[in-house]
Amino acid sequence: MTSTTLLKNRGAHMSVQRQDTIVIGGGLAGLVIARELCAAGRSVTILEARSRLGGRVYFDSVKGTDESAELGGQWIDPNYQPLIAAEINRYNLEITHGDPGTEQRTVSGDQVLHGMLPIPPDDIVDLERGVWECLAASRRIEYGRPWEEQGLDDLDVSWAEYVRGLKLSPAVEEYLMTWTSASDPEQSSALNILVLFATFGHSAWAAYNSMELKFTHGTASLVDAITSEVRAEIHLDTVVAHVEQSADEVTVTTADGRTFTATTAVLATPVNTWEDVTFSPPLSEAKQEVSRLKHVGTGQKIWMQLTDTPAGGVLGWGFGKGVNWLLRDRQLSEGGDLYVGFTGGGSLDVDDHDAIRDAVRVFAPEAEVTRTFEHNWLKDPYAKGGWAVFRPGHFTRFHSELSRPEGRLHFAGADLSFGQQLWMEGAFETGFQVADRLLRRK
Ligand SMILES: Cc1cc2nc3c(=O)[nH]c(=O)nc-3n(C[C@H](O)[C@H](O)[C@H](O)COP(=O)(O)OP(=O)(O)OC[C@H]3O[C@@H](n4cnc5c(N)ncnc54)[C@H](O)[C@@H]3O)c2cc1C
Repeated sequence: MTSTTLLKNRGAHMSVQRQDTIVIGGGLAGLVIARELCAAGRSVTILEARSRLGGRVYFDSVKGTDESAELGGQWIDPNYQPLIAAEINRYNLEITHGDPGTEQRTVSGDQVLHGMLPIPPDDIVDLERGVWECLAASRRIEYGRPWEEQGLDDLDVSWAEYVRGLKLSPAVEEYLMTWTSASDPEQSSALNILVLFATFGHSAWAAYNSMELKFTHGTASLVDAITSEVRAEIHLDTVVAHVEQSADEVTVTTADGRTFTATTAVLATPVNTWEDVTFSPPLSEAKQEVSRLKHVGTGQKIWMQLTDTPAGGVLGWGFGKGVNWLLRDRQLSEGGDLYVGFTGGGSLDVDDHDAIRDAVRVFAPEAEVTRTFEHNWLKDPYAKGGWAVFRPGHFTRFHSELSRPEGRLHFAGADLSFGQQLWMEGAFETGFQVADRLLRRK
């Protein structure tokens, strides 16, 4: 066993001896696989395209301030996410409650409602029925059993079609449509939402409340803690371009022409980037199809420094002017508050300061936006999307196939999780599955 070796790409002619496993992608899934394999005495090389580890978790400092913020994954719920809970315990990581604000405001038609009730009071019976229908549908999902065996085709339609089918009042229909977490409800399968409820104990309230706890010292504390136990060779700035399998080994070639060989390899990169790697033999038709069509997780997170917001903090929700969800992260010592807003489906230009201000003012009419910042995951070549939200028809036709090994090549990553595909938890779920499978292999 070697100790962790972090190597920046310094040239095209590095010779590396054959390893037991090459892990492609140093996000949470790749890191946890490497940790588990190394702990069992296997030799591992991680090839990571970026100059940092962590992938879609990215705790970074905010230019011109003393602040840091989560540009990617942030919230966790140890009550419903046992694998994250185990990591928190393992490393004794500090977690903390956010400060989301107490003044709830919901866009409903052409009005903004104040208070906890997100629909006009006259529509409450329809809201009750709508939520009941969704929770009943979520109970039909048997967690972990292959999707295609469960007779769920009627639920693998777009969220918009599913919600329209419930025949609710316009206000309740509009409210339920907003649940696709910033993705287009016409483009997202209803099963994305229904399995979310299933993973949160069939509770819409628990799922909604999951955006509360976060790592006190950022997800960097999680990434650093795992990395400290990864006894592998880690190559940063190393973009994998080609994966070739022969009868007894896998050869991985990087974009700058280096080659690495191992007995097995794991592809732990986002599904939306699989198309940028060539495979010999080619991946299955279904894997190619999903990578070509791409998941529709177009949600983007915009950080904003705001002043002149209500003292209690505003919690905004609903189709306004492009920010579908707004909440306070914390109050700043220099004055003002740090808020995070979500947009998606191309409904807001995240580089347009005035458009962001107008979108925020739907919820907080006096607000001034002094600074915005974000990481554009949609334009990021090593993500090509945000958290995974899949199309209608995806789950019952393709999802199980995504994690099926092909020869010596295995597949991991949150995108492939049975039902935690929106979450860091999914990266751990699939990471442990692959590590267990590889360790059973002679
Ligand atoms: C804006 C945003 C907000 C989110 N909010 C939350 C949240 O609040 N809570 C939560 O639990 N989850 C959240 N998520 C989801 C969560 O961050 C992800 O599900 C999880 O981090 C994915 O981990 P992963 O290891 O599967 O994939 P990734 O983190 O994407 O890791 C894949 C790695 O592969 C690398 N890679 C890609 N292509 C190549 C290549 N060709 N060669 C080599 N390396 C390559 C990438 O650089 C990356 O490091 C959010 C995601 C985003 C984008």
